[in-house]
Amino acid sequence: MGHIEIYDSHIHSEGRSQKELSEMSNSGIKTVNSCAFYPVRPRYPGTLIDLFRKLEEFETYRGEKAGLKVVPAFGIHPRCIPENWHEVIDFLEESQPKIFGEIGLETAEKAEVEVLKAQLSLAKKLDIPCIIHTPRGNKAEITQKTLKSLEELRFPEQLAVIDHVSLETVSEILNRGYHAGLTVEEGKLSERDVLEIIEKFGPERLMINSDTGFTSLDYLSTVRAVSFLLEKGVEMEEIKRIAFENAKEFFRV
Ligand SMILES: [Zn+2]
Repeated sequence: MGHIEIYDSHIHSEGRSQKELSEMSNSGIKTVNSCAFYPVRPRYPGTLIDLFRKLEEFETYRGEKAGLKVVPAFGIHPRCIPENWHEVIDFLEESQPKIFGEIGLETAEKAEVEVLKAQLSLAKKLDIPCIIHTPRGNKAEITQKTLKSLEELRFPEQLAVIDHVSLETVSEILNRGYHAGLTVEEGKLSERDVLEIIEKFGPERLMINSDTGFTSLDYLSTVRAVSFLLEKGVEMEEIKRIAFENAKEFFRV
């Protein structure tokens, strides 16, 4: 399996040990996006700002030691909105990260939509690609609201990957010109679902990820998905697109 390099487009590297990061690298995962997420709702904007600094300085360093290129993604997750969140937006503007993420809607309450739109407006202005989360619950409905926010801002399609898509939501996302993140994990997509999606839509604008982080979620699920697709006879070129190349182009890494 060593011949297909993998770009895991959505993880939370902080939740994985140094040993696990090395294991990822040894299994073929060579690049990861480490998305900002704080496991309890932060009280202060400074909590997120320091978290971004940690991703930028410390997680990239841990990655290097493991042979893994860690690309930090900064953003206010809908479950991590602090008081005075405008200060975080100001920091995002000053620091101009390579990627915004993960951002998005969880319940689509008013504050969440406001925070999402503030980040999208900034991303549009600064030309920064965005990793946009969709929730486990009410996925179809919240995805619609997310697409509505994007369209109200005339957000450039080529800057948005809508993540954690389901068999139900993927087709509209691709039809509207966005990228789709296929999260291979229990309760999201199985390897078989990934196969079904690639057979139906082809490999363009699709990218796989594990969303591994603070829970016991399988940090090698992308490796297993790639092996499964190979086993099922999917073309090597197609697998390379969804495992690495699409993400590399989209995130300009
Ligand atoms: Zn995540």
